[in-house]
Order: sequence, then C-alpha cells, then structure tokens
Amino acid sequence: MNYTAMSLVKRGDKIEFTKEIRTLAPPDDDEVTVAVRACGVCGSDIARWRGEAYHYPLVIGHEFAGEVIDDPAGEWTRKRVAVFPIIPCQKCPQCQREMYAMCEHYDYYGSRRDGGFAELLNVKRANLIEIPVGVSFEAAAMCEPCAVALCALEKAQTVENKTVVIYGAGTIGLILVKLALIRGAAAVYVFEPDARKLEFAKTFGAAQLTADVHADVIIDACGRPEALVDMLLHAKPSAELVLMGNPASDVQLPRAVYWKILRGELTLRGTWNSRFAAHANDWQEVLSLMGEGTLDISPLITHRFALTEAETALRTMTDRDAFSVKVMLVNREESKCIL
Ligand SMILES: [Zn+2]
Ligand SMILES: [Zn+2]
Repeated sequence: MNYTAMSLVKRGDKIEFTKEIRTLAPPDDDEVTVAVRACGVCGSDIARWRGEAYHYPLVIGHEFAGEVIDDPAGEWTRKRVAVFPIIPCQKCPQCQREMYAMCEHYDYYGSRRDGGFAELLNVKRANLIEIPVGVSFEAAAMCEPCAVALCALEKAQTVENKTVVIYGAGTIGLILVKLALIRGAAAVYVFEPDARKLEFAKTFGAAQLTADVHADVIIDACGRPEALVDMLLHAKPSAELVLMGNPASDVQLPRAVYWKILRGELTLRGTWNSRFAAHANDWQEVLSLMGEGTLDISPLITHRFALTEAETALRTMTDRDAFSVKVMLVNREESKCIL
C-alpha cells in the first residue's frame, strides 16, 4: 500500500520537508497499521525541524490519533486509537515497574523513529489506546499533552480547594488550568508574559498572577530559568512545587530564596512525560474525561492544516505575529489510504 509521508530531509545544512510517496511494509506481529487522522505539532517538533533531531531523514509527529486499518490478529481492526509515543525496552528496572517514561533504552515515534506526519504508520499494539465514542480524532491527538499535564498535576497530593499557580500559558499550561479547575481548585493563577496568551488563559478560568498571591500548588510549564525563584516566592508554607518546563539555561537560586524551601518545608517534585501503565494510566484518565465531556480541549486547536502543508503549519507556530496554541495536521477521512 502506498502512502504520503512528510519527511524531514537534510540537504547541506538546510532541513526541509519533503513529500514522499512510500510503500508500507506489512506490520510486524506486535504491530498494527494506523491511518493517521490527526497529528498535533509540538514545540519539540520545531526543534527537530531546526536541526535538533537524532537523525535525518525523519518523519516527526508524536501527538497523533487515527484508525487501525490492518491488524493481523484482528483485535484492533477498525478501532479508533490514540498512540503512546514511547516504545519502552521492557527490560530495564523502570520498565519492570511499568515506569516507561523513565526507560533507559527507549524508542520514540516521531523522534527516534518515524512518527505521525504521514498517512500511515505501523504502531506497536502495546502503544494503542482506544478512543471513546464521541471523542474526535483531533481531541484524541491532544492526549499526549493532556496526559503530560495530568501526570504533572498529580504530582501534587491534591488541588481540591487549593490555590494553584501555573507558569506558562502554552498548550500544557492551558490544559493544566482546565485540569486544576476540573479537580476542584479554589483558584488558578497564571504567569504568562505574552498578553495574548494571558487573555486566552483567562477565558479558561485562570486569573493573572500578581505579587500578593501565595499558593499551595505551583507548577512550572514554561521552562524559564528564572521561574523557580519566582515560584518559591509565591509558595505558601508546606506548598508543593512541580517542575516540568525544560529550562533554556542554568537555574540560579539565591541563598535567601533557598531558605524558603527549608523554612516553609516545601516539596519540589520533577515530572517527566506521562504514565501508561496498568496501575496508572494518564491517557486512560484523559480519554475518560474527554468522553464524559468534562475536558473539552477543542478551543486549544487554533489552526488546522493538511498533512502536505506541514511546513506552513510549523511556520505558523513560529510566527510571532500569528497567535497560535495547538496547530494540527488533519488527514481527511476520504484520504486514499483507507481504500
Ligand atoms: Zn509533545
Ligand atoms: Zn526500559
């Protein structure tokens, strides 16, 4: 079966999207063939487009959902699925405990191996999760950032009746606002220097962070190196701080601010990716919330492009004048790959 893939190819020192017509290999015994219906563009995809990928050529895209069009075992045929992008080694100590995000030898759709900027992809059966009735492919393609946000939120013991501060109103920051309110937060404040993003966050029920706010739960979803100091200054005694953003440079901590951790007996926790285990599965939880209508992320999708417009999609995301939150590539149902 032939299909279209938008491959990142290196020519000299330039990296360009190239439309390739490929022939699909039959899925391995542990794989199914997924017709990709929607694939979100992530900030990390921009980095790969700019030259920070492990290798080229590469088909990027790790936030995708679609329909299974071939399952040699028959179990998943015609099911609508979201795809957990980490392929764990299943051997290391973390994999033994189903903590796949911490796997020592993982593979990854859209980063280490080809991903969702394509009409078709063979995907490991173990990475599939079924989309409930009523949840669109586009919403399901948002599972990954939603699961990452939920995993971060759950690092705090509870947000119910608590004051919550979120640093950064990007996609994950905005999802955190929604999830914190769903989980019963008393108030959610956002730190966001971009006025348009801040206004957008307010439409989700967040308020602007001001100097007088002190919070019980504070989550960094921005990666500004100076955020940690600011987070500590906004922490109530016994507050919980969750560190998620990747800092762009070293993080400095003045001694007087460090003391706040000691005197306030603060808890600082890191969070990484999301859980996809039998005993804890953020993806399952997110899809349940979407299925019951509690979590509506559709307002976050500000732009939709066809697969072949991948370059325009990434340019839109990096255009400072164009306001975007989640940019998505959408393959129409009638795309030839389902024939
Ligand atoms: Zn991502
Ligand atoms: Zn492993």
